Amino acid sequence: MYVCGITPYDATHLGHAATYLTFDLIQRYLRAAGSHVNYVQNITDIDDPLLERAKRDGVNWQDLATSQIELFRSDMVALRVIPPLHYIGAVEAIPLVVKAIELLSAKGSTYLIDKDLYFENNLVSDFGALSHLDKKEMESIFSQRGGDPLLIGKRDSLDCLVWMAQRPGEPGWQSTLGVGRPGWHIECTAIAYEYLSPNSDDDELIDIQGGGSDLIFPHHEMCRTQAQVLTGKELASVYVHAGMLGLDGEKMSKSKGNLVFVSQLIADGVDPMVIKYALMMSHYRQDRMWTHEVLEQAQLEVANLKSALGAKSQAATDSVISEIIQALADDLNTPRALSALQSWSTQCRNGETGGDLSAMRNCLDSLLGLDF
Ligand code: ZN
Repeated sequence: MYVCGITPYDATHLGHAATYLTFDLIQRYLRAAGSHVNYVQNITDIDDPLLERAKRDGVNWQDLATSQIELFRSDMVALRVIPPLHYIGAVEAIPLVVKAIELLSAKGSTYLIDKDLYFENNLVSDFGALSHLDKKEMESIFSQRGGDPLLIGKRDSLDCLVWMAQRPGEPGWQSTLGVGRPGWHIECTAIAYEYLSPNSDDDELIDIQGGGSDLIFPHHEMCRTQAQVLTGKELASVYVHAGMLGLDGEKMSKSKGNLVFVSQLIADGVDPMVIKYALMMSHYRQDRMWTHEVLEQAQLEVANLKSALGAKSQAATDSVISEIIQALADDLNTPRALSALQSWSTQCRNGETGGDLSAMRNCLDSLLGLDF
């Protein structure tokens, strides 16, 4: 499973938390079902947004990245997210990226504009098969998300940068492609290709490629296309995308300045398990809203659950555990799983008995990552 990680220039907001929680639930489910999960996540520790933020704030870009990576990891620990097997930084992956670009070039799918190297996506016949957008929509989203559809010299407006020659005052790394740094999409393609040890018998390189739904285009479309040129294979059997999180009816975004940070909520005294519970109250694929009411509802339901777990005896647990497993097997239907838990809490409150407390605690911990 390959999940696109953060660009470490800002603290972990709730949208990030919702995305990584989704893949944590997948990892937990697969592990509980007896699978060995090879889970890789990158960290885009060199990219334009990081350099721009460091410049704006007058700090060293490496110090900024290091501090934000630490904050991200401590947030994930607080939310009891099991770490990936490999966390790979873009900087450490530069040799892999260069190797992948050399392979693309050997297949005739790259070209130069000045000293920057671009990938020609038109060489793949079904470009766009993941996002199902028309060309105009693609161009518009591409320019909003780091792309340069209007750049003069491109063979196609949607071709993407794979190697950027060093700019004055910016870092660069020596390579066979000249001194520069990797483009964003090829970073993930190269890391997924290297770390997920493709089995040559499969039609796809990896099982799951994941991230937020804002990565469908251009990011995952570009990664998929690059992987096809590199290997002739589909990148992933399944592409999984988590919906976006809004705040009080508005889109949560850096430009609006309305981001809710996990670290701030925790500093304000909110139990990380309540944050996690609140995010699981809606389905991962839905775009959803974070409101005060959502948090209050989660606090109430967690209190019910804690009181059931703390009672002298519990209502029967076998059926509720099996309901939780079935709900998760149904495309991670967490609202259904939590609703089963609330019904069980009510049964406990009504004095029903015959349950196995440790089995319930194990289920909450291993499948939902909840520990009270
Ligand atoms: Zn990625």
